[in-house]
Formats: sequence, structure tokens, C-alpha cells
Amino acid sequence: MKKVWEENIRKVVPYTPGEQPCQPDMIKLNTNENPYPPSPRADEALKKINTDTMRLYPDPTAGDLVNAIAKVYGLREDQVFVGVGSDDVLAMSFLTFFNSKKPILFPDITYSFYDVWAELFQIPYERPELDENFCIRKEDYFRENGGVIFPNPNAPTGIALPLCEIEEIIQKNQDVVVILDEAYVDFGAESALPLIEKYENLLVVQTFSKSRSMAGMRIGFACGNPVLIKYLNDVKYSFNSYTMDRTAIAAGAAAVQDIEYFKETCQKIIKTREWVKEELRSLGFTCTDSKANFLFASHKDCPARELFSALREAHIYVRYFPGGRTGDYLRITIGTEQEMEKFLFFLREYLAKSGKRCI
Ligand SMILES: *Cc1c(COP(=O)(O)O)cnc(C)c1O
Repeated sequence: MKKVWEENIRKVVPYTPGEQPCQPDMIKLNTNENPYPPSPRADEALKKINTDTMRLYPDPTAGDLVNAIAKVYGLREDQVFVGVGSDDVLAMSFLTFFNSKKPILFPDITYSFYDVWAELFQIPYERPELDENFCIRKEDYFRENGGVIFPNPNAPTGIALPLCEIEEIIQKNQDVVVILDEAYVDFGAESALPLIEKYENLLVVQTFSKSRSMAGMRIGFACGNPVLIKYLNDVKYSFNSYTMDRTAIAAGAAAVQDIEYFKETCQKIIKTREWVKEELRSLGFTCTDSKANFLFASHKDCPARELFSALREAHIYVRYFPGGRTGDYLRITIGTEQEMEKFLFFLREYLAKSGKRCI
């Protein structure tokens, strides 16, 4: 029996993050982290931090970080908002921009945090189905709605929508805010950032967690028209003024300026991804054409759940989303070349032993 005091409590079904196991020999390919260290400039910046400054609140505007991001992307500071990872930026954006009685739209298969925020903030939503190839059908977003959000490339499929189709979606939705979640855009898709000058209702969200190897530091940002950014800041300051701590501001501002290192590590991951994709195909897998730092793969004879468990026992962690159309697939983060060699070696042996290896 529920206690009376429990009746008026806000009840939510939370998002389930990927597990963070901790074994010395593990190969961790389950949460799309970057296998390479962050820019050495982050290290230098952290070493310069004076512990005594911890007494003092950080800069509520996170000015140094906002300024550095703006410079790198050729924007003005009033076009940039920063938060504690893009999860924080996205949560604030849902709260700020999705305040209509009409449903917001996002794909049925996508980042599984969107429906959690929609439920938490009591935003009505509809989820148009991806097509038979796991692609977003732009026409599904041409109907009346209270806002649009989707990742590009999409998660967990890795499939990117061409920029011209994205622009069509924005064009057809100029009465609502359109949010593009570009968590994986640096691994080979085309960013919609240049479009923020043309469409005042477009917000582009990115993160330092994947392409900048800083998931543990929690830095995300949004770029858009100054009016959008102002509304976002108004909500942020009504919630928590000091979201970014001193270390995140310093490390983030230093790291983002190291463009050469960033390009080099992204290229390494892209190269490894394309190689692993070919290897998996030769083992009987089908993979989507992922432009992210992960692959979405299904084996014709071996159920994904079985592979997931077998890999796990070998301390190789990948992500599995049971049920529905994703239940046939594994989401495999791209690690270092050596990690992926070991991963492929295990699969080769396993499929051969269970008689499922395609020759
Ligand atoms: C990883 C991810 C995020 C959030 O990452 P943060 O670590 O909070 O920046 C947002 N959207 C998608 C689609 C992601 O995959």
C-alpha cells in the first residue's frame, strides 16, 4: 500500500546509462567513450589550477569556456551556451523550448533520454518510425508539432541525414524550435552549425564527451541565435547558476583550442571504424553505414543477445538494447586498433566454435 505522502511525489522511469565496469583486462566498448586521451592542453590547464581558488564560486557565465568555443567555431559569445555535458544542455533545452500543448517529434529509435525528459517535464511527444533501413523519413517531421529533436548521426544506428534534408526539416518547422543533437557529428557527418545564421529557431547541441575524449569532465554546449541562447540562460539561472566548475571551465577552454589533436584522433577513429566494419561484414554481420564512433551490427545466424553475453564473459563490453528492432543488433564503440583486434579475434573464434562462422 502506498503511503499518503507518496501520492504527490513526481514519479519517473529514469534513463539507464551504460554500465561502468572496472576490470583491469576489460575492453570497454559500451558507452561510446573515446579510447584516446584528451588533448595534452587539458592536462596543462589542470596542473595550473590553484586549489585555494576552490573556496570561491566559479564564473557563472563560464566565460573562458564560452569564449574558447565561440572562437573555435567562428561564432560570437552570445551564440553559445555551455552545460554539464550535453545531457544537461539538452535537459535545459527541453525545459526551455518545448512548452507547447502540441507534441514534440523525435524518432522511435533514437537516444533513449528524450522520452525520459519529455515524461519528466510532462511534454507531449510522438515518435515517428524510422524506415525499413533505420533512416529518418524527413516527411514525418512536416506535420504540426510543438518542436523537433533528433541526433545527427542518429543513435544507436549511426546513420546520418544529409544536410539538405535537415535543412528541409528546419524550413518546414519555422514556428517551433528544432534541436539537432550532434553528439557524434565529428566522426564523419556534416554539421548544421552554419545554418544557425540562417534559421533563428535552430539549436545545435554538441559535447566534449565523445570526439574530445572528455566524458569524465562533463562539458556540452549549444549554439544558436542569441535570442534562443538568452532564453536558455534564463532557465539555467532559474535552476542552478554555477553549473560549470573551475576545472571543467579551464580544461575545456584549453582542450577545445587544440584543433590539430582533435582532427587527428577523430581521423584515427574513422579509419578504425571503416576497417572494423569490413572485418565484421566478412564474419557474417550486417552493419549500418555509421558515421559515428560506434557500429550498429547484427549477425545473420547468431542472436545479438547471445553474442552480448559471450563477449561480456570475456570482459569485452558492448551495448545491447533488447526488444523491438534494436534487439537484433549490438552497438559497438570504436576503441583503439589493438582493442578492436582483440574484439574481432574473440568473435572469429566464437563464431567458428559455434559453427556460425560464414566462410
Ligand atoms: C552521449 C550522448 C549525449 C550526451 O553526452 P554527454 O556526455 O552528456 O555530453 C547526448 N546525445 C547523444 C545522442 C549521445 O549519444
